[in-house]
Amino acid sequence: MVLWFAEAVTGTMPTALITGITGQDGAYLSQFLLERGYAVHGLLRRSASADVILERLRWLGLVDRVTLHDGDLTDLSAMLRIVQAVQPDEVYNLAAQSFVHASWQQPLLTGTVTGLGAVTMLEAVRIARPQARFYQASSSEMFGKIQQERQTERTPFYPRSPYAAAKLYAHWMTVNYRESFGMHASSGILFNHESPLRGIEFVTRKITDGVARIRLGLARELKLGNLEAKRDWGHAQDFVRAMWLMLQQEVPDDYVIATGRTTSIADFCALAFGYAGLNWQEFVRTDASLLRPAEVDVLHGDPSKARDRLGWAPSATLEELAAEMVEADLARHRARSSLVMPTAESMRAARA
Ligand code: NDP
Ligand code: GDP
Repeated sequence: MVLWFAEAVTGTMPTALITGITGQDGAYLSQFLLERGYAVHGLLRRSASADVILERLRWLGLVDRVTLHDGDLTDLSAMLRIVQAVQPDEVYNLAAQSFVHASWQQPLLTGTVTGLGAVTMLEAVRIARPQARFYQASSSEMFGKIQQERQTERTPFYPRSPYAAAKLYAHWMTVNYRESFGMHASSGILFNHESPLRGIEFVTRKITDGVARIRLGLARELKLGNLEAKRDWGHAQDFVRAMWLMLQQEVPDDYVIATGRTTSIADFCALAFGYAGLNWQEFVRTDASLLRPAEVDVLHGDPSKARDRLGWAPSATLEELAAEMVEADLARHRARSSLVMPTAESMRAARA
């Protein structure tokens, strides 16, 4: 039985602080925690496009249900003030420059935000709220040039991008804060996870958006890079549940979260185009400019530890995920032409 620790200890509903609340995982994690009665606080960095930044929370109908605090992960003074003010029971550090491809163009920024940013947050928690439970968003990209066919918590790391190297630093600092200061700090080594809220630059969403545009006559082709790479893709909603489960354990630890199924980009194209009744080979073109300086050829996780210790298992299949993403992109493009933005709620109503 999982211990819902803050409630069990204090008798009150817990408070969570999420960095990266405006991203894919932050939005779904907010939804998950709100459904369980948490007070949810999040970090919002100043942007000239603040309206657009809140799009994912708006899609889920959550903008008015979370408390947002201005700040940037690289600003220790702001992080300290926020942790001090919120006094969270659980801190989820999801903020990052999260796009591998961009990390070769912005290696220093990626190191500063994705690597040092995690330490900024660990420091803020250690100083202002040391009893809070801490989650670090580690990544299967840390396995990079894989050293074992199926990757577990014990597989040696071999990062292949500035992003992966920065995540590895953050990962080991989380382990070090746990071991040095006795903090309840856990690291989730999450394999790729997708959803209708995935950033448009990531390959699954780029594909489902392309499918929708081609289906609706808004585009004729889709340009992609390496079609042979394989990823172990899951649904983001399943994966945020695993984050929460990690923080409910009495003892902090590191867990691989994956589906255990790996699929090539070409096969995902076949799934997504096929769902819309299209033959992907008629529309997908390869473009050498989309290849990367170094590639992670295959990722294939073994989530046995999460299954055994957390009782976690993915619920969505890749087929269901692709279908949901194509449907959402079709709805977005249709709505853009009618100037009414859909939400998760309006889509549910339309399906009913
Ligand atoms: P997103 O790219 O969707 O979200 C990233 C979030 O970080 C956004 O809220 C973004 O804010 C915020 N952010 C970026 N830079 C800063 C900064 N300097 N200060 C404050 N906030 C900042 O990522 P995901 O939701 O997909 O992923 C969540 C975390 O999990 C990330 O750390 C990612 O690297 C990691 N991860 C993701 C995987 C996946 O498959 N999705 C797999 C493994 C790990 P803004 O909206 O303002 O840009
Ligand atoms: P990543 O695993 O975090 O790098 O997630 P991505 O979705 O960005 O990329 C997954 C894989 O898809 C990588 O091996 C990419 O090289 C490959 N890929 C092929 N074409 C594209 C493309 O056009 N965009 C992106 N983002 N990835 C592509």
